[in-house]
Amino acid sequence: MIGILNKKIIKDLYKEFNTMYFNGVLSLCDCHYIKLDVFGRYTNQNGKGKIWITNDVDWTEETLREVLVHEMIHHYVKSIFDKNEYLFFRHGFRFRRMMKKLNNEFGLGITISVKNLHKRV
Ligand SMILES: [Zn+2]
Repeated sequence: MIGILNKKIIKDLYKEFNTMYFNGVLSLCDCHYIKLDVFGRYTNQNGKGKIWITNDVDWTEETLREVLVHEMIHHYVKSIFDKNEYLFFRHGFRFRRMMKKLNNEFGLGITISVKNLHKRV
């Protein structure tokens, strides 16, 4: 389990994963750590990506990486291809192709929807 998590740590992880998994091609997203009704969320306003991670989960390194990289794939698809696919098929062909590539190349366990992750009660 991770100790204290905050948006600075998430941002640092984002930079690390950008280098490790995306060859550093992603522009920096704003990172937020707040209570959400989901585990993670990606939004984009005028080309500026934002990643939201919920704060009511006992994150482990693995589950946080899984959710953060998942949101980063949304940013990858949106910013590299800028297709409406992002809006209408959030987990469409480009998303899945990148997800499989990262899973195969780096042994990650990125999924479309996270399993075995629970909100703190
Ligand atoms: Zn998603």
